[in-house]
Amino acid sequence: MKREKNFDKATLIANWRQIQQQISVYLAKNNRANNATQLIAVSKTKPLEMITCLAKQGQTDFAENYLQEAIAKIKTIQQNYPQLNLTWHYIGHIQRNKTRDIAEHFAWVHTLERDIIAKRLNEQRPSHLPPLNVLIQVNIDEEESKSGCNINKVENLVEKIITYPNLTLRGLMIIPAKLDKQNDNAFVRTQDLFHKIAKNYPQLENWDTLSMGMSGDMETAIKYGSTMVRIGTAIFGGR
Ligand SMILES: *Cc1c(COP(=O)(O)O)cnc(C)c1O
Repeated sequence: MKREKNFDKATLIANWRQIQQQISVYLAKNNRANNATQLIAVSKTKPLEMITCLAKQGQTDFAENYLQEAIAKIKTIQQNYPQLNLTWHYIGHIQRNKTRDIAEHFAWVHTLERDIIAKRLNEQRPSHLPPLNVLIQVNIDEEESKSGCNINKVENLVEKIITYPNLTLRGLMIIPAKLDKQNDNAFVRTQDLFHKIAKNYPQLENWDTLSMGMSGDMETAIKYGSTMVRIGTAIFGGR
């Protein structure tokens, strides 16, 4: 974790406000409700002080990729700032031996791609916590190198997750291929898949989340129904 304790608070807050402003503009442009897309602040590699600074401004949801770093931040904030009631999202790749830590410390997981991981998260979710909100990460551009569930296996995974009482399946997450960020293709196909699953599985009562859109493709993502944008660089600066 970089130690940027001397970051410029005014710049950080201004960046954050500007992103919120842009989200509002893009929502209005697409005739969507003003609160239809939630801002998830991606704080990976950034210091605790930046997180608490934004939390004091009213940012509630933060996302992290690196588990050890994330847990250190979550624990320190819970101890030192118990009044900040933050919601933590895990957006990194999930290794099998890391599921317990994820199940114990996060409210959301955006990167579920296989049943073995879902099964373990379900078993390891502590009983004093509400069910873990999960999103299926879809390898929407079918890239060999990329994480995510194959498009034609998503429904199989849905059918598995539905049976796990300690997981609440909320929707889909994507990271489009670099080339695809220049057109709307991946976003359109993800929105179609999202609606198709809603139709095929009416028992999914909480199917309401499309996690797509990062610093470079937020506008297109919002156009195609994103309900959560994951923004790092545009708020916190480069990594
Ligand atoms: C780092 C990261 C982001 C944020 O990306 P920026 O381009 O910095 O906004 C979003 N989603 C995932 C999965 C990431 O790993």
